[in-house]
Formats: sequence, structure tokens, C-alpha cells
Amino acid sequence: MIAQPKASHFVNGDWLEDEAGAAFEVTYPGTGEVIARLHAATPAVLEAALSGAVAAQADWAARRPVERARVLMKAAEIIRARGEELARLETLDTGKPIQETRVADWPSGADALEYFAGLAPTLTGETMPLGGDFAYTIREPLGVCAGIGAWNYPSQIACWKAAPALSTGNAMVFKPSEMTPLGALQLAAIFIEAGMPAGIFNVVQGFGAVGAALATDPRIAKVSLTGSVPTGAKVYAAAAAGMKHVTMELGGKSPLIVFDDADVESAVGAAMLGNFYSSGQICSNGTRVFVQKGIKARFLERLAARTAKIVAGDPMEEATQFGPLISAAQHEKVLGYIAKGKEEGATLVCGGSAGNEGPLFVQPTVFADVTDTMTIAREEIFGPVMAVLDFDTEEEVIARANGTQFGLAAGVFTGDLARGHRMVARLQAGTTWINAYNLTPVEMPFGAVKASGLGRENSKAAVEHYTQVKAVYVGTGPVESPY
Ligand code: NAD
Repeated sequence: MIAQPKASHFVNGDWLEDEAGAAFEVTYPGTGEVIARLHAATPAVLEAALSGAVAAQADWAARRPVERARVLMKAAEIIRARGEELARLETLDTGKPIQETRVADWPSGADALEYFAGLAPTLTGETMPLGGDFAYTIREPLGVCAGIGAWNYPSQIACWKAAPALSTGNAMVFKPSEMTPLGALQLAAIFIEAGMPAGIFNVVQGFGAVGAALATDPRIAKVSLTGSVPTGAKVYAAAAAGMKHVTMELGGKSPLIVFDDADVESAVGAAMLGNFYSSGQICSNGTRVFVQKGIKARFLERLAARTAKIVAGDPMEEATQFGPLISAAQHEKVLGYIAKGKEEGATLVCGGSAGNEGPLFVQPTVFADVTDTMTIAREEIFGPVMAVLDFDTEEEVIARANGTQFGLAAGVFTGDLARGHRMVARLQAGTTWINAYNLTPVEMPFGAVKASGLGRENSKAAVEHYTQVKAVYVGTGPVESPY
């Protein structure tokens, strides 16, 4: 299988190659096969992308919002029309099952393009009457934004960042994860096909150093990162030195709380989705599943029975529900956490080993009797490893759920809706669900508190993070001056 793009980068409306950049391979995690060979961006590529974006941005910002919206809408239409082809590319890039990439990745990206295309033309300023004089506000784009992506949802991340940024008149230089560099290139080409001017959305490849070069460049007004907490701390510090805006979508160790009165099948289904979808490589996963003691036996029994039926296999097969991890390093890391879970005394309910479907598979794994101090309850694993913890009371579970540096997401399953609302009001998380988990429609804000990040993606909230307000005072009479 080959998925070689025309060139490594897409800059100023066209494919761009510079073989002087460090060479790296893109592998299909399903088999380990090399599917593309790319080069990291050199200073010359970065210079072309940044100067091109700066040159193009002012004209784009000066266009009527509906004109920009039309381009984004057209891009969404192209994405939907090529859904199958793009889903296959996403599966090759990430190893996620085709049944996931068909419905979750590019479709969610297209939703974002449509949503922000619709929203941007409705954005207006305010007028403040001042008794003769008056003031008004203008919502302006920030300028050129840098987007830096993680490897788990590469195309969705590119779209979630590009849509609010471009619809409001910014330009973007996007650096995908070095492990999944292919989808964003397609997005850049699709934008051009949809009528976007050259230079408004550029894709440059590379490792952390290329991201760091973007985060420190004085021409970048804002950095939006999706990645781990340690990377977030570095990028935030670099951006702060240049007084840049930031959005940080980082890691988590989110609680999913199941009360005795919950619908057990729904709670089990949500816990499985929130730990095994994308082989557990989802930032908002509910990896600490707190189960009230009265429902524990039934919950674990149904969880084990349903987990045993998960179909793991070739991600390109229609029937496959569960694929490999992204890389050998991630595979080793996840198996290391499983070993720690066993060592530290958690009860292995199912899974617990490497899978035999391919080199990068890990079995969907459930540990019960996990305690708050165990490594698997404290650290983000980013693999298919669920930790089930027992609890007795609301008060207790709130304290334990909040006892972490992370604050990305949280979920509650209960038959008592009043309790559901009472719980989410006290959970320290940016994104919460009652009787649902991991649904992230574009209409709803998505983001974190505490070490898991700041800023919001999606919804009207994202507009705040890609625009700034200019205040205009208008004098209508003579200036009264004491001098
Ligand atoms: P990572 O932090 O290793 O890398 C993320 C991106 O940052 C990559 O493109 C990488 O090249 C770049 N990078 C690395 N060092 C950099 C530096 N010093 N300066 C600038 N850029 C740098 O993360 P990952 O392993 O690719 O992704 C997994 C992590 O992402 C997990 O922690 C996961 O929870 C998180 N994540 C968060 C969200 C969210 O929305 N909150 C979504 C997906 C993934």
C-alpha cells in the first residue's frame, strides 16, 4: 500500500518539497508497512509558509465573511463527496478501523467547516451610546495562527483548528504530528480546490523542532496545540515569551462515574466507547471508571462479556472494530502500564497482553479493584486500558474524581437526573456528559481546565480564541480640553 503525497508540504497554494529536510517514513500501523516517505520542513520551507501566510492574510480578512464562508462550505462539500477515499487514507495514516474513520474523523472535520462557515457571517460588534459620542467594537482576526496536531485524530484536529481560524479571517500554518502527516495535506489541497486564496492554509511537516520554530516566530499571533501536557507546557511558555494567544488541548485521566441506579448496558457501552474506541487513543477518554459498589458485579460481568466480543483485526476490513496502536513506542508504553497494573495489585478482568492481529495490537484490557494511588489510575496511558475503581458515596467520588492534575472531561451515569446535574456542577472538567460519553458535536464547546489545557474548540466559544476586539471611540463634538 502506498499513500505517497505529491510532496511533503503544501505552501502558498501548492505542493512543496525540500529534500534537505530530515527524511522520515510514514507507516501503516495495521501492518508496519511504509506507505510514504517525507521530509521535515527546513528553515526555507518555514520561511515560505510564514511569509506567504502573512502576505495573504490581510486580503482574506478584508473579504466579506460570506465570501470566506462559501469557500469553507465548498471544502466541506468536497470532503463529504470524497468521504470514502479520505477515510481510507485516514485509516492508513492512523491504523484506526475504517468503520471509525468513515463516521468520525473527516465527517467531524466537515461539520466544523460548515458550522463556522455559518457562524462567521453572523459575528458583529457592539455599539455603546455615550450621550452624543459613541463607541463601537470590531471583532478582528488575530493574524497568522500556528496549528500543531496530535496523531490520534489528525484530520479532525486540522479541521477543528482551521475552521474557526479561517472563517474569521486568519491564516494558518499547520504542522501535523510526524506520525500522521497525510490528512492535513489533503485538507490544504481541498481548500485550494474550493477557491481559497494561496497562503491562507499551509501545511509544513516535521517533529517537535518545527512546532517549536512556529511557536517562537514573531509572525505567529496564536498557537493552537493538541498534544500532551509536557509538550503543552513547553509550547505555552514559548508562546508567552512572544505574548501570543494560545489554545491548549492536552491530555487527561478523566473520570466516568457510574451510580447504582444507572442503566447498566448504557454505562458499560459508554465505558467501552470511552476506553476502546480508536484503541483508547483519545484524550477525553474516561479511563478512571468509578463504579458504585451495588452495581459493580453486574457492571463487570457485562463489561467482560461485551469486551470479549470486540472484533480486532485488519483496520481496512469492514467488520473490524478495534485496531492497533500508532507506533512501536506507544505499544511498548501501553504494555508497560499493563505490567504495572498487574504488579501493583489490580485485578485483571480481561485482556492484559499484546494482541496477535499484528505487531502493534494490544488487547482491550480491563482492570478492577484499582485504587487511586496505582500508576494506572494516575497517569495517562493513551491505550485500551480501563481502570475500574469502587466507590460508596457521592461526596467521596467527587473528591477522588477531582484528585488529579488533569481536568479535560468527566461523565456521570445515573437514573437520577438531579444527581447528574449536581455531580457535573462539582466535577473539575471542561467537558462533561450526563448519561453519555465522548460525544463532541461541533455545536458544543470542547476543552479543558487545570493541566489539561485552556481555550475552547468548537461552538461559539472558539470564536473568542481566534479573534480580538478592537474598541473605537467616536467623538461627535468639539474636544473639551483643560489646556
Ligand atoms: P505530543 O505532545 O507528543 O505531540 C503533539 C504535537 O506537538 C506533535 O505535532 C509534535 O511534533 C509537537 N511537538 C512536540 N514537541 C514540541 C515542541 N517543543 N514545540 C512545539 N511542538 C512540539 O502528543 P502526541 O503523542 O502526538 O499526542 C498524544 C497526546 O495528545 C495525548 O496526551 C493526548 O491526550 C493529547 N490529545 C489531546 C487532545 C485534546 O483535544 N485535548 C486531543 C488529542 C490528543
